[in-house]
Amino acid sequence: MPTVIIAGAGLVGALNACFFAQRGWNVQVYEYRKDIRTMAHVQGRSINLALSQRGKSALEAVGLREYIVNQGVPMYARLVHNKDGKTYSRQPYGRPGEHIVSINRRHLNEVMITQAEKCPNVKFFFEHKVKNVDVDKGSITVQSLAKVSRIPRPGQSPPRTEDTTEQTIQGDLIIACDGAYSAVRRSLMTFPRFNYSQEYIEHGYVELNILPKSDEFALEENVFHLWPRGHFTLIALANKDKTFTVTIFAPFAEFEKHMSNTTDVLNFFRENFPDAYELLGRDHIADTFSRVKPQPLISLKCAPHHFGDNILLMGDAAHAMVPFYGQGMNCGFEDCLVYSDILNQYPMDIPRSLKEYSRVRVKDAHTINDLAMYNYEELRDLVNHTSYKLRKKFDMWLNRIMPETWIPLYSMVTFSRIPYSKVVENRRWQDKIVSRFNKIICTSTVVGVIAVASFAAYRQKIPPFNKF
Ligand SMILES: Cc1cc2nc3c(=O)[nH]c(=O)nc-3n(C[C@H](O)[C@H](O)[C@H](O)COP(=O)(O)OP(=O)(O)OC[C@H]3O[C@@H](n4cnc5c(N)ncnc54)[C@H](O)[C@@H]3O)c2cc1C
Repeated sequence: MPTVIIAGAGLVGALNACFFAQRGWNVQVYEYRKDIRTMAHVQGRSINLALSQRGKSALEAVGLREYIVNQGVPMYARLVHNKDGKTYSRQPYGRPGEHIVSINRRHLNEVMITQAEKCPNVKFFFEHKVKNVDVDKGSITVQSLAKVSRIPRPGQSPPRTEDTTEQTIQGDLIIACDGAYSAVRRSLMTFPRFNYSQEYIEHGYVELNILPKSDEFALEENVFHLWPRGHFTLIALANKDKTFTVTIFAPFAEFEKHMSNTTDVLNFFRENFPDAYELLGRDHIADTFSRVKPQPLISLKCAPHHFGDNILLMGDAAHAMVPFYGQGMNCGFEDCLVYSDILNQYPMDIPRSLKEYSRVRVKDAHTINDLAMYNYEELRDLVNHTSYKLRKKFDMWLNRIMPETWIPLYSMVTFSRIPYSKVVENRRWQDKIVSRFNKIICTSTVVGVIAVASFAAYRQKIPPFNKF
């Protein structure tokens, strides 16, 4: 059986290990961190994530969908909190019953590692840092970070904290799942014809928590809570343990101006999110902002997603995106599924499968990257605009009449597996129809007004339009 080397045992690396374990390949996963199953606290991004159809389909393929979904909290709508702290508006995500699921990131990652490890052909190497990739040899260099003895022997220099032994690892296929700051991608960037672009948006984020109230959820649990305030926004997603993970997204300049000392940050929260302020509590807000710095958000694209005859990039390593469509992980999970389907078509031809993967996947990855950036506008502001709400209602109404033909943009992204690039094509087609429809309505209104005015003028025996 062939050997696959996977760089990174995060969400996408661990899921890929499950896919290749099922295929019977020899799987070696090299992960920089310790085994998260043995750690008391895991540092990293977003405590919970929204899982939707693409992610669910990939989990289904490795037999984990039902288990994971049952560990999450379903969310059926957005609940938009107004600035008065007392009134809300509810925006259902899709048709009745359609929902996304709030999942604990760490638990999800642990479950997938354990599932993959059940197969004897899978081996995880924790505390192993992938340094680079050698395209010509089709190998990666890995550095073991295993700690050596801390007790110095007489006459010896103090112990090193890291053993710098490096090894070169060869495999039939190398998949980089080492995240947005991928070491594998970095070493490919010096090669010609490898395209890469990245953008840090002006916003950063800080995470907080709302604890249960009398052992119950302090807010309605089955919705995505949203406090849109123009150029900054707050969101909250429920966790199974009845807490909420709350995230504030704001420009770094805003963090510096209004959230850099305790008095300012408390005033800022009290003024802009009065209901959330009460539930978060002043001590928790003050403590969090004294300890935690806002984290940056990066959006990156590269092309192709493969290199040479055996190197492939997946997940954030290939297409880290801003989190506003809740698709980063879902898209990464779908990457695994798409490649698995392609490998079924070309089981004996890895180079061909890689070319095919880049052919179908790059345009989709670029598209969801752009859509996520667009949703950044939507979440912080557009949701409050009347035109946006009307369009959403209109889309839902047409979807009820023609469920197969007219699917709203959000539903195509979140509740289907329509390729992202096709989603945008469909949306352009819908926009054309809506704009024609608007023109017809405007023309009919103008004609109607003229007709009524003419009729009124005629009845008064005054020649029309000669009034002025
Ligand atoms: C605030 C926020 C909210 C989000 N919310 C959502 C959401 O609701 N829904 C959604 O679908 N997505 C969401 N995302 C996106 C999601 O977190 C990512 O898309 C997802 O984590 C990508 O998984 P990955 O495995 O590709 O990368 P990562 O999760 O970053 O995993 C990479 C792994 O590689 C390891 N690694 C790194 N470098 C090396 C190296 N040199 N050698 C060995 N190992 C290495 C890391 O330790 C890590 O374990 C959110 C992101 C953020 C920032």
